[in-house]
Amino acid sequence: MDRIWVRFLSFILCGALVGCASFKPDSTLPLSVVPSPNADERRPSLVVIHYTSNDDAAHSLKTLTSPERRVSAHYLISRAGALYQMVPESRRAWHAGQAYWAGITDVNSASIGIELDNNGAEPYDDAQLATLQALLHDLRVRYRIPAANFVGHSDVAPGRKIDPGAYFPWQQLATSGFGLWCTSAAETTEPVPISMPVMLTLLGYDPRLPDASREAFRLHYLSDGHGGLSDDDALAQRMAYCLLKQKIGQE
Ligand SMILES: [Zn+2]
Repeated sequence: MDRIWVRFLSFILCGALVGCASFKPDSTLPLSVVPSPNADERRPSLVVIHYTSNDDAAHSLKTLTSPERRVSAHYLISRAGALYQMVPESRRAWHAGQAYWAGITDVNSASIGIELDNNGAEPYDDAQLATLQALLHDLRVRYRIPAANFVGHSDVAPGRKIDPGAYFPWQQLATSGFGLWCTSAAETTEPVPISMPVMLTLLGYDPRLPDASREAFRLHYLSDGHGGLSDDDALAQRMAYCLLKQKIGQE
């Protein structure tokens, strides 16, 4: 069809449809815009939690907004629980770097990044965690993000990153459905029929980095939330198997 006719048809159709506004084309190639009302905003499917490794939020805000530093996140939460947004959720923030989760290789494109003001060697403040819980709840309601997709930077960049670290209370967050957890893993003596690398891959970890993924898993699931970390391999296997069953049950 001639381009003039396509434009005319689009003008007539859009006049009759609500929410069918014209838009500026993304490509510079010659084309005709024929808007469709059958679309919405792209949806993030993953939330990645970080610590700033800093001692004050003002300093982190400066870094995360500096053109020279080329790093950002969608949100920053101060120790006192103040919430800052630096990048709209519809845009790709630069927080994950080289990363992988559950087949996703461009983690920045698929995720919301949240920075917590914490230096990595101290407990997280209650006020900060309360704001985080509220923000995670808000994101889950708006994007329907599954429990297994609330992860740490260490989970998506094993061997390269360790935040949000061994002080992060994953177990506490999981009771609200942010991230998976198994309280029964310590008690059960059931044999684990699947190898650890296979379980880690099925949980979302990068299959190209089995050893680093095992360490990242330990940091997330074998930490006590107070800086302590267990090196019990049998417990790690029972935990992974229990989490896998839980994840499959939720899918
Ligand atoms: Zn990070």
